[in-house]
Amino acid sequence: MEYKYTAIILNKWDVGETDRICTMYSLEGGKIKSVAKGVRKPQAKLASSLESITLADVTVFRSRGLGKITSSIVEKNFTALKKDGEALLEVFAAFHLFDKLVDFENPDQNVFLLLQEYLESVEKSAKEGDQRKYLIFRYGFIVKLLDSLGYAIGVDLCVSCGCPLPPEKIGFSSQQGGVICGSCSTLNKEVILIRVNAVKMLRLFLKNNIQTFSKIHASDEDFDSMRMAVDDFLRWNL
Ligand SMILES: [Zn+2]
Repeated sequence: MEYKYTAIILNKWDVGETDRICTMYSLEGGKIKSVAKGVRKPQAKLASSLESITLADVTVFRSRGLGKITSSIVEKNFTALKKDGEALLEVFAAFHLFDKLVDFENPDQNVFLLLQEYLESVEKSAKEGDQRKYLIFRYGFIVKLLDSLGYAIGVDLCVSCGCPLPPEKIGFSSQQGGVICGSCSTLNKEVILIRVNAVKMLRLFLKNNIQTFSKIHASDEDFDSMRMAVDDFLRWNL
């Protein structure tokens, strides 16, 4: 049977003499994997439209197993992003996490749109030559992705006792699932400190679109505090 997908190519690796396996995240089928046959032959036309970080209309013929990719038409190439080494490193780091967090064949329109918006935001910054934004896009994307997948980071009330958070002295507990008040912090050994502005940044991520993250101005200390909390949360949940 033939399946048509609007898909973002995540990754590819060579198999056999001329074939390649592609992983992609599609609007219709979620994360899927399929084989592109003969794609490494010199005259193969399919190769360029199956590069990682490409939005394409992909046709897969499948009766059983992985099936094979019969055609791919590029919709968006993210050319500026692909020419920028820093952007590539960032996006592959995001893809690595995405791949770990997202299961196969579990379509979710919201996840697809997040991934697309993330790539478009990096592409826009790459065009403008603004590399400082890549890291904030990646962290914002991951926080929103976690939320979409049901691993929401609690940022509004103490995740342990439910009390409103004090303006200072807040902790972060990955085990409990988010931000934690001072009194609960003393009871939990694994709590790390988090700066108030880092909590505000997490709230901004959750409430706003990825494109708007380019307007967030954070000190290095606040940004690092947010990163530490998210990295800790990922270590705990992955
Ligand atoms: Zn508490």
